[in-house]
Parts: sequence; C-alpha cells; structure tokens
Amino acid sequence: MALRIVQAGDPVLRQAARPLSAEEIRSEATRKLIADMRETMYAAPGVGLAAPQIGMPLQLAVIEDREEWIRDLQPQDLIERGRRPVPFHTIINPRITNLSHNQAEFFEGCLSLEGFTAIVPRSRNIRVECFDENAQPRIIDASGWYARILQHEIDHLRGNLYVDRMRSRTFCSLNNFKQFWQSKSVSIVQAELDSTRSPAEE
Ligand code: ZN
Repeated sequence: MALRIVQAGDPVLRQAARPLSAEEIRSEATRKLIADMRETMYAAPGVGLAAPQIGMPLQLAVIEDREEWIRDLQPQDLIERGRRPVPFHTIINPRITNLSHNQAEFFEGCLSLEGFTAIVPRSRNIRVECFDENAQPRIIDASGWYARILQHEIDHLRGNLYVDRMRSRTFCSLNNFKQFWQSKSVSIVQAELDSTRSPAEE
C-alpha cells in the first residue's frame, strides 16, 4: 500500500528518529512497513525514502536506484555524478563512521520538498554501519550518487533536510530549474548566481 509522503513543515521531519530493537526489526509490522515504503518510493518515484517521510519517527530508510531511471540520462552526467544502479535494500539504525572531506556539488531534490531543488555539497565517499531487514549488521562503503543518497536519507533520520546544507542562492522550483539551469554545469550555475550577489549582503 502506497503511503502519503509528509511535506516540510510537518514536525516529524524535524525530530530525531529512534532506533529499532532487533525484535522490532524482525517483526511483521516492520516487514509490512518496509514493503509499503518500497511501494511508496516507486510510486513517487524516488531513489530513497526515510520512515519520518511517511510520518514514522524510526531509524529506517529504503533505497533503490533503478536501471530504468538512469537509462535516459546523459552518459556524461552519470559519470560526473558517479551514478550507477543500486539494488533495493533497507538501512536500519545507520551510523556514518567515515566521510570523505572531498565533496561533490550537484542539484538534489527531496520528496518532502515537492517541486523544489538546490545544489547541495555532499561527501563523495561514505562508510555506513547499519542493520538490514533481517537485523544483520552491515557495513556499506559507497561513493558517488549512492553516497549522496545515503547522506540524504541518514539526514532525515536526524531531523535534517537538504535545505540545511544547500547553497541557498541555488534554491529553485523544478520548473525554473528546467527553464534556466538544467542545461548548465554546476560551476557555471554557482558562478552566475554569485555574480549577482549584492556586496552589501556579505
Ligand atoms: Zn528527502
């Protein structure tokens, strides 16, 4: 059953989610929650969905980047972003145990900030320690777009949204993104927006 995705302003998106016990992870209720979140993510569509986004303050997120969503993108964009298909999986009680200082900046969106996007800096490489849906411990070493997805979803579990990290002058509606910015490289977008910044603001 697809669930309703809550939008920015709902307090659940700003609270720290709680961890699940091993029994809870293996429970029928969690199995059903994961199945419903998977369906909700496909329907949206999105590449990740955290439990707070469907109103549940739990440290659980589902992730999948499908081949069919990547197929139509420009090969150069895929290479720059390090975007490759990621099979469906669940992360529970995740902890980031390593984060590279080397960052990448790209436009990013969120199903809980529908219709908007902004450039967000994220580490290119990340190590996450978590549990899977069988309550087995997992270590994930991710890079590129998958590393970005993990950082975005784990932010949700801490009550953070991409607007807390974005280059705020690049925040725009998706329609305006398509009209004005999509065809430009991230560095050109930033340079153009910085050049129109009033010196008095600094
Ligand atoms: Zn999000």
